Amino acid sequence: MNWECVIGLEAHVQLSTETKLFSRASTSFGKEPNTNVNLVDCGLPGVLPTVNKNAFYKAIRFGLAVDADINQTSLFDRKNYFYPDLPKGYQITQMELPIVSGGKVEIEIEGTKKIINLTRAHLEEDAGKSIHEGMAGTGVDLNRAGTPLLEIVSEPEISSAKEAVAYMKALHQIVTFLDVSDGNMSQGSLRCDANVSVRKKGDKELGIRTEIKNINSFRFIEKAINYEIERQIDVIESGESVTQETRLYDSIKNETRPMRSKEFANDYRYFPDPDLLPVMISNEEIEEIKATFPEMPKDKFLRYQSEFDIPKNDAQIISSSKNLATFFEECMEDAKDAKLLSNIIIGDISSLLNKENIEITDSKLSTKNVSELVNLITEGVISGKIAKTVLEETWDSGLGPVEIVESSGLKQIDDDDEIERIIDQIISEHPDQVSAYKGGKDKLFGFFVGQIMKATQGKANPASANKILKDKLDN
Ligand code: ADP
Ligand code: MG
Repeated sequence: MNWECVIGLEAHVQLSTETKLFSRASTSFGKEPNTNVNLVDCGLPGVLPTVNKNAFYKAIRFGLAVDADINQTSLFDRKNYFYPDLPKGYQITQMELPIVSGGKVEIEIEGTKKIINLTRAHLEEDAGKSIHEGMAGTGVDLNRAGTPLLEIVSEPEISSAKEAVAYMKALHQIVTFLDVSDGNMSQGSLRCDANVSVRKKGDKELGIRTEIKNINSFRFIEKAINYEIERQIDVIESGESVTQETRLYDSIKNETRPMRSKEFANDYRYFPDPDLLPVMISNEEIEEIKATFPEMPKDKFLRYQSEFDIPKNDAQIISSSKNLATFFEECMEDAKDAKLLSNIIIGDISSLLNKENIEITDSKLSTKNVSELVNLITEGVISGKIAKTVLEETWDSGLGPVEIVESSGLKQIDDDDEIERIIDQIISEHPDQVSAYKGGKDKLFGFFVGQIMKATQGKANPASANKILKDKLDN
């Protein structure tokens, strides 16, 4: 039997505001439990929420970037449920009138483009966290309670796990470039619920779906969805039907498990929050937000090629990551050679980042150190090969390249007389190889270059060394 899958994603983006959606408590990550909490966040009776304007502006920025409608009147509703990390007994969200309606996100897979339509994007507050480890019972940490989230809901138009990942990557790019969110997935700033169903190829009606909750890495999104597609096909092929339910992805066992039966909207008794007035956004405010739109990847890609003359491929890679683009642009304030810089970023630096699986902002590399390194190469103080060693030391220690080169004597040997002396020595020590080379074994040239680099620990200026060696051997 031929099956096809249908996926709709509900992405949660944590907005990078200083304070919470309805209170002045800080949103900073990783603080002692229950220190970023005020009376509003812990749901004391009689306190009143105040809307964070900046959260609205960020939501609108997102809406404008994906060509959506901005609802100039939007409303907050209460979604009622009980959970220990939700002290009020309800979550404030937007049900009837979200701030953003519609919109579209373009994805690309192996050169083929596809549009995924959005249903809506609404503002809501995050809940706290239950902590089970390191204590006798269960602890509740309310630091995250009230943090602003933008929930972005897609239409059921995603047709594979790969497309789902491409869609989440596209969202990540949009929200990071817009400075709407830091996009840090390991800290939960971007996560998603995946709604998955399967149906016979060609069927018009949607199959029964399950919802996999809270997946927080691109890799897990792909694995969880693929597992779920296979599971549902097995269920149907064995003559049973899929149960509509909420499931949990276990990344260690690579499987999804039932978490609870699917709840429906009327289970939550949504109603407009009487403590919050409708939020009205004026045309002037929307114009103001448009006027401060940052430069997006497509424009950066073109500008990097025209302004800095770096190769298309380098421009593509650097411009598609907010962190790399910011790093590159800051380095260019001091670095003297853009091509060399882009080459180091997409080569040696990217492989160090991949090896440790971190972002450049989490590394010890500073833009000052990397531009210093580029300039040491441009000025001929060190060779490209030595630069790699210096970069690794900077990576480990955070020390500046100039300091490293001076303290460990890594300066390039540019003095032709000194290089000549070293070459004479090597030639006199290898008479057999010299006569073999002269007898036509051209390949031995590389052997001599190797000997020079060995004798100088890679510090001989390669161009001079090659020229002098050639002169000596060919005469
Ligand atoms: P709820 O709020 O109860 O989770 P929604 O109707 O708002 O339900 O849908 C949530 C998400 O589920 C949307 O992204 C939507 O595209 C997707 N979705 C709805 N029905 C299906 C289905 N049969 N198969 C796959 N995805 C679906
Ligand atoms: Mg849902």
